[in-house]
Amino acid sequence: MRLVFLGPPGAGKGTQATVQAEKRALHYIATGDELRKAIAAGTPLGEQAKAYTDSGQLVPDDLIIELFKDLLGKPGSEGGALFDGFPRTLPQAEALDRMLEEGGKTLDAVFYFDVIDEAVVHRLSGRRVCRRCGATYHVVYKAPRQEGVCDKCGGELYQRDDDLPETVRNRLRVYQAQTAALLDYYRDRGLLVRIDAGKAIDDVGQMLDDAIDALGDHSDHTGGPAAGQERL
Ligand code: ADP
Ligand code: AMP
Repeated sequence: MRLVFLGPPGAGKGTQATVQAEKRALHYIATGDELRKAIAAGTPLGEQAKAYTDSGQLVPDDLIIELFKDLLGKPGSEGGALFDGFPRTLPQAEALDRMLEEGGKTLDAVFYFDVIDEAVVHRLSGRRVCRRCGATYHVVYKAPRQEGVCDKCGGELYQRDDDLPETVRNRLRVYQAQTAALLDYYRDRGLLVRIDAGKAIDDVGQMLDDAIDALGDHSDHTGGPAAGQERL
């Protein structure tokens, strides 16, 4: 099974992706996480990417496609994969199609996390991330047991630079200008499944779970949508 999680920043893609990837043993590829690792490690890619991520712009397609190709080529994705934050532009979507085609693979579904801008600003202002393992929390909606400390590894929690309100607004503009067009791209291919991502974390998780289960039951994509989600 190969899935894409698509939607604005802060829609809850990463929160749900980590759960689904573990539950279904899917190889999890999150380009944003990889860029943050590269920046922290001071690699040439990190140095090139930093100015873009800091300001909420997209990293140029050639760099990100190259990064994605490397990640996809690593062992582990044979049994299935979940792509979070890639593709984000039409050239990236076309590159993904080509890469999968070369490997004789296809996408099973693209889940569109639909949520209003106000919720995104609210969610991102309270997001905290573990410096060590990358786990994500929210000060209200997914609070760690001990403030500032990761439940999973004890690492320090920090606020991402690009989660500051002004940068978040810029990221939302960038999403509308460059990524939203992918909704039509995948709708036209019969792959788009809308998830009401404005609900609480557990409710979104349940909807997603049902929707992914339904894909397995109806791999020819003729199955009806489960409650809370619709194939578009
Ligand atoms: P994305 O990967 O789409 O950028 P995240 O999964 O990191 O978004 O979620 C952004 C923030 O919102 C995090 O702090 C997360 O804990 C919180 N969050 C995720 N899903 C929900 C939800 N359904 N309701 C409230 N907060 C949420
Ligand atoms: P994310 O962790 O998905 O919110 O991504 C954080 C930042 O990394 C984005 O604001 C972009 O600057 C960059 N980024 C991540 N994925 C991509 C991508 N597919 N294309 C371009 N830039 C990306």
